Amino acid sequence: MSFDLTIECAHQLDHVDPLAMYRERFHLPVRADGSPYIYMCGNSLGLQPRSTSEQIQQELVDWQQLGVEGHFHAKNPWLPYHEFLTEAMAKVVGAGPHEVVVMNTLTVNLHMMLVSFYRPNGTRNKVIIEADAFPSDKYAVQSQVRWHGLDPEQCLIELKARPGEVCLRPEDIKAHIEECGEQLALVMLGNTNYYTGQYYDIHDITAWARAQGSMVGFDCAHAAGNIDLDLHGSGCDFAVWCNYKYLNAGPGGMGGIFVHERHHEDPKIPRLEGWWGHNKETRFKMRDDFEPIPTAEAWQLSNPPIMAMAAVWSSLQIFDEVGMPALRQKSQQLTAYLEYLVDSLGEDVVDIITPKDPAQRGAQLSIRVKSANKEVYDRVIDRGVIADWREPDVIRVAPVPLYNSYQDVYQLYTALRDAIRS
Ligand SMILES: *Cc1c(COP(=O)(O)O)cnc(C)c1O
Repeated sequence: MSFDLTIECAHQLDHVDPLAMYRERFHLPVRADGSPYIYMCGNSLGLQPRSTSEQIQQELVDWQQLGVEGHFHAKNPWLPYHEFLTEAMAKVVGAGPHEVVVMNTLTVNLHMMLVSFYRPNGTRNKVIIEADAFPSDKYAVQSQVRWHGLDPEQCLIELKARPGEVCLRPEDIKAHIEECGEQLALVMLGNTNYYTGQYYDIHDITAWARAQGSMVGFDCAHAAGNIDLDLHGSGCDFAVWCNYKYLNAGPGGMGGIFVHERHHEDPKIPRLEGWWGHNKETRFKMRDDFEPIPTAEAWQLSNPPIMAMAAVWSSLQIFDEVGMPALRQKSQQLTAYLEYLVDSLGEDVVDIITPKDPAQRGAQLSIRVKSANKEVYDRVIDRGVIADWREPDVIRVAPVPLYNSYQDVYQLYTALRDAIRS
């Protein structure tokens, strides 16, 4: 597909877009004059599917009418409720349904996975993370290191880009992993990186880490629903993500975990346990001995918040309908179009720090404004765009293939162009 700088090009791209009708399935935030904002923040908080309020309402009505009996007799019985989400969730992240469960929230889940998969032993105690990891991830890892009585200064290896570069080179990640060798206990990367938008190939990194006898896991908060992941095929040990970014489950929405099947019945992997991880047949017999469900469900602690689960489910139904391959296909073209438009503005005012290679990025582009001129961002926002500014000098934008149009992208471009020229 070739692009040009005219609005007609955007119209034409929308006209032939096979996913164009999905925009109608979402609530777009509106301005005072009733026109929709140019919403480019789906990487931070996805928009609300129109079906979500009805899905939640169903549970409220069943609770009104059935009370505790809703566990068995609600339209969607609450007892097995999480199971209704599993298959669609597993497809989004490329895993078997037995390897995935929706539970808790992201940082909580990261801690739970670290309990199971960061098992420092003698000199094998090092963790590789990114130097510019999402702060919550870094706090989680640091505190786990300390919780084991170890010193983060000694145990954390931070991957930094080379001087003058922003993105990590795969060969440098590999070299660090090999250098740690037998001291490496865990590799844990935020993937896709929230700041640069860089995606690291999970197959390669998993192979490099496992070759050193290390565990490997990913925080896929910015990849789930964005990249067509293959968690099972990569062979990584675990992954966590939130469902409120690309997956539209609402503010503070529930997270998900992936635990590779090879760990499910391995007694050497310790776990924090609660009754929802116990064998479903005997859960209510209130026995003393914990008998784990032989799937990722064993990591569940509590009976889940049904209203929050309903929101995740409503969004997953849309993903199930569209499928990640079709989404990813549109996403690559939509982002390539944005890249083309931004590049036309000239590198002396803005440049894109996200990798150019479509295999190394998802929907997001991080646009660096020269001389850190935040006024450019402020003027873009004044023109009806919702995006975000990350210090010192980056505007993050994510055209989301489910609900953003090519005309949205075009309007973002004209707002940016006018903001630079004014
Ligand atoms: C969004 C995000 C978080 C947020 O964590 P919560 O526990 O959901 O508040 C953490 N880590 C990464 C990498 C994120 O992108």
